[in-house]
Amino acid sequence: MSVTIEGVTKLYGSQKALDNVSIHIDKGEVVGLLGPNGAGKSTLMKIITCYLKPTSGTADVCGHDILESPLEVKKHIGYLQENNPLYSDMYIAEYLDFISEIYHIKKKKDRIKEIIELTGLTKEQNKLIRELSKGYKQRVGLAQALIHDPEVLILDEPTTGLDPNQLTEMRRLIKELGKNKTVLLSTHIMQEVEAICDRVIIINNGKIIANSKTEEILAMQNMQSIEIELKKPYPSDVFKSFPYEHKIELKDNLENSVKYLIHFTSEEDLRDRIFNYAKDNGLTILSMGQPERHLEEIFINLVNKE
Ligand code: ADP
Ligand code: MG
Repeated sequence: MSVTIEGVTKLYGSQKALDNVSIHIDKGEVVGLLGPNGAGKSTLMKIITCYLKPTSGTADVCGHDILESPLEVKKHIGYLQENNPLYSDMYIAEYLDFISEIYHIKKKKDRIKEIIELTGLTKEQNKLIRELSKGYKQRVGLAQALIHDPEVLILDEPTTGLDPNQLTEMRRLIKELGKNKTVLLSTHIMQEVEAICDRVIIINNGKIIANSKTEEILAMQNMQSIEIELKKPYPSDVFKSFPYEHKIELKDNLENSVKYLIHFTSEEDLRDRIFNYAKDNGLTILSMGQPERHLEEIFINLVNKE
């Protein structure tokens, strides 16, 4: 296990930013922490990286407890902070030299050269940080996070503010790094998780509301959903005895009708069965349709269910 978070709660004054969060990340996993603004993503990352202390609970990084051995934890973690604060009046190599000093890196000249190549900064290496585009600044942020070759990478919204080309490049780079490292990255973009991560953890209001393999979340997208509108009045416990595995979700309660979404795991077209079932059970169907389901929608549904 690379990262274990156990029952972490964080209060800012009386505001609960994290509420009893537990997460286990295996060595080599690339995990996406997905959630809207204010969900608690950055707070959780600051706790794992020992920049903030939890109000209660603890975490362990590569066998080192964040409360007992913060220095050891920092040795094993590379951290790209949100908004990536850099010294803008330094040259790239100068800045990386400064970071290398902090980590007491041996053969730092070689290591800096290596990391500049790895992060694709070779062409820009003689520039001042402030002369770089946002995409290249992010690469410098990644370079400083990687300089001491940590086992775990914590990346807080690494692609926010990048243009589409830079975004693709950054994702490719992170994916490449994820082959040899454990990565926890935060984002509020579902597609990003889809492109990079093995697993998705969805956080909202400081609580974890989903934790699944990316392919399982994607499979949810492939579930069949049918929207039906039923005339009021109608018997309660609608579709309870419908003989196909399903979940039913109230979508809209209108004056004379009600709209339900019925989710099926079956791929068979069930509209005729629904129609016949309704007829046999005294339900009047006013309309029926098959809405498309996108990942974005699954995410919003999960967040709204809270
Ligand atoms: P995210 O990174 O998911 O956007 P944050 O972890 O930054 O979320 O914030 C979680 C909650 O904690 C938010 O409601 C935010 O306003 C609050 N918060 C974050 N940092 C502080 C702070 N230093 N003092 C007070 N409240 C904070
Ligand atoms: Mg944040």
